[in-house]
Amino acid sequence: MTAPTPVRVRYAPSPTGDPHVGNIRMAIWSWLYARHTGGQFLVRIEDTDQTRLIPGAVERILESLNWLGLDWDEGPDIGGPYAPYFQSQRLEGYREAADRLVAQGNAYPCFCSSEELDALRSRQQAEKRPTGYEGKCRTIPPEEAARRAASGEPHVIRFATPREGSTTAHDLLRGAITVENATLDDFVILKSDGFPTYHLAHPVDDFAMQITHVTRGEEWIPSLPRHVLLFDALGYPRPVFVHGPVILAPGGGKLSKRHGATSVLEYADAGYLPDALLNFLCITGWGHGDETVFSRERLIEIFDIADVSLAPATFDTEKLNWLNGVYLRQMPLRELSEAIARRLERELPGDVPRPLDRVLVEAVTPLIQERIQTLAEVTPLVDFFWTGSVETPPAGEFLTKKWAGQGEAAGAALDAVAGAIEALDPFEAAPMEARLRALADEIGAKAGDLFTLVRLAVTGRKVSPPLFESMEIIGQEACAERLRSAAGVVRAG
Ligand code: GLU
Repeated sequence: MTAPTPVRVRYAPSPTGDPHVGNIRMAIWSWLYARHTGGQFLVRIEDTDQTRLIPGAVERILESLNWLGLDWDEGPDIGGPYAPYFQSQRLEGYREAADRLVAQGNAYPCFCSSEELDALRSRQQAEKRPTGYEGKCRTIPPEEAARRAASGEPHVIRFATPREGSTTAHDLLRGAITVENATLDDFVILKSDGFPTYHLAHPVDDFAMQITHVTRGEEWIPSLPRHVLLFDALGYPRPVFVHGPVILAPGGGKLSKRHGATSVLEYADAGYLPDALLNFLCITGWGHGDETVFSRERLIEIFDIADVSLAPATFDTEKLNWLNGVYLRQMPLRELSEAIARRLERELPGDVPRPLDRVLVEAVTPLIQERIQTLAEVTPLVDFFWTGSVETPPAGEFLTKKWAGQGEAAGAALDAVAGAIEALDPFEAAPMEARLRALADEIGAKAGDLFTLVRLAVTGRKVSPPLFESMEIIGQEACAERLRSAAGVVRAG
């Protein structure tokens, strides 16, 4: 299908919290599609439900997009030819559209009170009938309704849904969707406070902003017939509708907090890279042959929204972790080391002076680049380079396997290593390893068993970045000191 040109798509979040990954995936797809076609991507804040607004949500939404590297051509912060991009500032347009629909006979004021509507609903439920407005105020003569509305009587505006026939809407991914009009009630388009419902704000704004493709989640499909009725009644050409499938939790069901992070900024915090998350979310529900790792440029080159798969995709955390590892390994050393430095500055104990010496961070980075999948693993793996002294683990941790019950021997071995270390010149990883392998032979221990003791003494942990490179960075004196203090601990144990 040839797309209308230029493609104009929008991301239209409600500022009710941090955007959920499912919602952001649709933003990613929309953005890619705009960039792929040379079109435009805009952000519109849907803040007409004043009761659900969360302070700071708009900033967090924009921050999420920024972090992912999704730029917008028009939006609440930068304006654009169709400003304003906050629905709460566009009330005039909705009022005009509603008035026009009333004048055309497509909508009418409804004066029913909420008590009346509640009673209607209870009756319908008791009689096991579908709930919905049955059109009581639709029969009020228009002049009388206009007079009552003008006199200030509280009212909403409802759409006069056709009673007969059916409505067919098209979804790019699903084809025709038809419903009998009799199943749709006369829904509210303008609330008594003058704010529109989503049903009205969506066609008015998407027409006004020249949106060519309405890309949104499949939770809007049930409302789609209402929307196309409104587009038609307002005389607006219908846009292309694309409803994306949901993302399922591992093991099925809705993805929720229970499964870990659900918002973009939580993933940022958890040590994921923007490119990796973008790649991952994009391929959750969309694919291109056997490829898994896609650069942003490659995605822009090949992504077509028509290729989105309708099969609900599962959020595969292992794949995300793996992809993140791939991106970490691909990162230029400078860039990764800067990301690691920022992470460490956030997480190291307060008494470690900031800013961290970038030369040291750049020395440590290559030792861990191949070993981590997320930046969250960094600090626990390398904090000992900065914390000055390490806390020597209790003797029991040293005295296992080969060294069980051998406190004396282990202490002597550690002292011997300290001596060998002090004599080394130059103090470098390769000669150090050679010397300590020879020393293991001399004392009749396996190299691995000796290195376990050394690692625990010098880094304070069983698993660390490569030992000799780490020791080179820690320095000759500090290593010898840690080895001797560990020797004391194991002897006493
Ligand atoms: N404000 C709606 C939401 O956040 C937007 C749906 C749409 O994209 O039209 O769900």
